[in-house]
Formats: sequence, C-alpha cells, structure tokens
Amino acid sequence: MGESKLAQYTSEEMIRRFSELVDAIVVVDKTTDRYRTVISRGIFTELFDEEGDYKELIQTLLIHLNTTSEKLPESYQAFLPNFGTFTDKYSRRLKLVINEGEAAHIVQMMVYPMADEEAYMLIIDELDPDENESENQTYRKVETIEKTFLFSMYIDLVEDSTGSLNISEISEEAVQAELKYSDWRNMIVNAIGQEDQALFMERSDPEYLKKMFTPGSTSSFDCLMQNLDGVYIWVKLIFSRIETGDPADYKYVFMVQNIHEEATAMFSSLKKLGEMALTDSLTGVYNRGKIETSAKNAVKDFAESESKDPISMMIIDIDYFKAINDELGHAVGDKTLKQFARIITDNCKDEKADIGRWGGEEFVIVLYGKTRDEATELAEKLRAKVADFTMLYGKKITCSIGVAEAREGDSFEDIFNRMDKALYKAKSAGRNKVMAG
Ligand code: GH3
Ligand code: MG
Ligand code: MG
Repeated sequence: MGESKLAQYTSEEMIRRFSELVDAIVVVDKTTDRYRTVISRGIFTELFDEEGDYKELIQTLLIHLNTTSEKLPESYQAFLPNFGTFTDKYSRRLKLVINEGEAAHIVQMMVYPMADEEAYMLIIDELDPDENESENQTYRKVETIEKTFLFSMYIDLVEDSTGSLNISEISEEAVQAELKYSDWRNMIVNAIGQEDQALFMERSDPEYLKKMFTPGSTSSFDCLMQNLDGVYIWVKLIFSRIETGDPADYKYVFMVQNIHEEATAMFSSLKKLGEMALTDSLTGVYNRGKIETSAKNAVKDFAESESKDPISMMIIDIDYFKAINDELGHAVGDKTLKQFARIITDNCKDEKADIGRWGGEEFVIVLYGKTRDEATELAEKLRAKVADFTMLYGKKITCSIGVAEAREGDSFEDIFNRMDKALYKAKSAGRNKVMAG
C-alpha cells in the first residue's frame, strides 16, 4: 500500500468504515439506567431493543451467557459489579448462546466511558466463526473436565500442605496452604470405600509418593468413594508430580475423576462376558464346562459336609432326536433343543438347581437338597411336561431320564455312572420314562 493510498484513510473515513463493520454499539445512561442501541447487526438485532432498561438488557444477556457451572459466570461480571459505575475502558470476551443447544457465539465487548462519565458506550462484535469454533472446542473441553473432575488440589509434601486448584486455570499461584496434607489424608480416607482404604493410605503415603513419582509422572487407581450425597460412586484417584525443575520439590496435583458411568457399564459388560463363558449359546443353559464343575463341586461339598443335605442329579436325553434332524433338518433340530431347554428351565424355576447341556441332546440337572425320591418326582414332572408340549412345527417329542442321589463316599464318577445306567434302563424300557439308580 503506497502512502497515497494510506492518505485516503482519514479519521472520518475510518469511523465511517468502523460503523459499517462493528456489530453493535449501545449507549447507556448511568443516571437513568436506560440504554439506546445506536447500531445492531446479526445476532444483536434479536438481543437489543432500540431503547430500553439497562437492567433488562443485562438480564437478557445473562440468559444468553454461556455458563459452564452453576456459579454466576465470571464474564457476567463485565456487566454486573460495575453496573452503572464504569469509569474506564474495559474489554471482555463473552460466549452468548442465542438458541439453546446451538454453538455459542463468541463476542468481544468493550466499554468506553463517555466524556461526562454520565454515560458509557458498549461496543460489541461477534468474532470470526473459525475462531468461534476453536473457542467452543476449548469451552467444551473445560466443561467436560468440570463435569468429570469432581475435585482437584495441590499437594506440597515438603510443606505438608494442600491448596485449592481451579482446573481450568492451573497456575503456581493457586497453591495456598489450607489444610495439612497429613490431616487431609486422614480425613478423606473415611470417604473411600472400606475395601480400598488401605490401598488409599498406601498410595497417598508421602514416602510412597516421593519414592514412586519422578517429576512429571502420573499414576492413578480406581476405587469407590462417597459423593456429597453420601452415595458411593466409582472414581479415579490421580496423583501427578509437578515438574518444577527443583529436585528437592515434592509438589503434586491430586484429582478425583468421576468414572461411575463408564465403570458400571464396563462391569455389566464384563459380567455378561463372564456369563457367556459359562453358557451354552444355543440353549442358554450352562455349558458342559460349567455344569460339570457344578456337579463335581456338589459331590465334593456333600462329601465334606457334616449336615449331609441331600444332593441329587438327573440326566435327560431326548428320544429319537436323530430322526428330527433327519426328517426336518438340522435347523429344526436346533429349535427343538432350544424349546426343550426352555421347558425344563421353566419347570425348575422354583428348584434350587443348576441346569446344563452335557452334550448334543443330553442335559444334566444338579439338584440341591433333594433326595432320590424327590428328584424322581421332579423328573417325572419334567418328562410329562415335555411329552405334553407341542413343538413349533406341530410335533411332540419325548425324553428319557436317569436319576441318582449322592451317597456317602461317592466320587463324582460313582454318582454319574448310576445316573447314566438308570438312563440306559429308561431307554431300554421303551423310552419316555424315568429311572432312578
Ligand atoms: P435315543 O432315543 O437313543 O437317544 O436316539 P437319538 O436319536 O436321540 O440318539 P443319537 O445319539 O443316535 O443321536 C443324537 C443326535 O443328536 C445326533 C446328532 O446329530 C444330534 N445332535 C447333537 N447335537 C446337535 C445339535 O446341536 N443340533 C442338532 N440339530 N442336532 C444335534
Ligand atoms: Mg444321546
Ligand atoms: Mg437321544
């Protein structure tokens, strides 16, 4: 740009251009608390009337100011504490949310006192949308941090002190002695879940922190902690040693992060995965591994118990199952297995029993507290229910059942053999029968 061109930009010309570019200019009369909108463009046309009560205007702005917490946002103070008393130039960046749920508009507000100091001028500009976007992202990050980080503070082990820490403005100045670290530890441990209290004392021990943390290193562990409502929630306790450049410094940041939602979601999926490892995927009853473990444990517990509460078992085998596969196909065979498993589980709902698929079309039920006769009675009921049931494809099936009760000195193989022999007898006797060994 040559000098001749620069000369075009006279103050009149610049003021003219400014009045075309600026988004809003408002004049406020301190004596009457009235305002008048001199210029308003874009979002400000919705916010400002041509003339009005200044208190109402700041009220409107308050509604639209983006708040990151319950507290009155600091930016609001641009209007409030100095309300009617601006005596000097003043500039603030604010976030305005015009429509709820939409991104905030970043605006710069400048306050200029008028010569007589009886009035002042507000110049407000909306900033570039790209700038806006990056500011919004930062804002969202801070919001997330404020939401998930329940609590944070500084620890100085040399001073044995703690200090409050504002997560969004980490600065050395924020260290102020408030509570001795040793006292704080003894206080906070009571809020930790009983099972994790020893772990907390170990990990928060000054000697441990000094020994285990090199400057700049961070470590965390998860535990249950009481929130302000007295409810235990899952939190992550984070210790991080500050890199001050002085190896004699032992300063740390301590944070409590709320991980309750993620933790409970993870536990429920772990539980599901754990259950899946024990379940037969086709029929939903226990798989071979799990039912075999249950059966063996039941026999072992019986052998070791003094009360000798009875333990019985039954093995159920579907009759002529091969024919179903052969005549109707494997898919119908699978459906039959599902329906069959459903019948037996439904009819054992009130029993203390473990039900599992032993293999193919054979199922084993471990019955706790049932004698041979009681188990036989239940087996008879199951046999009859199966025989009565009409399968989806309109046919009926039957099953044969072998029953046995644990005896003094029995190994798992002993009882299993008696049960299996009884099943064989039931088959030989013409099927659709219950036999006890
Ligand atoms: P029995 O009355 O003597 O018990 O006769 P059965 O036909 O039931 O006995 P067998 O042992 O001869 O046949 C069992 C059949 O079960 C053979 C096998 O193809 C079928 N089978 C095993 N597992 C599955 C499965 O997961 N799905 C299907 N559809 N069929 C299966
Ligand atoms: Mg079989
Ligand atoms: Mg069979």
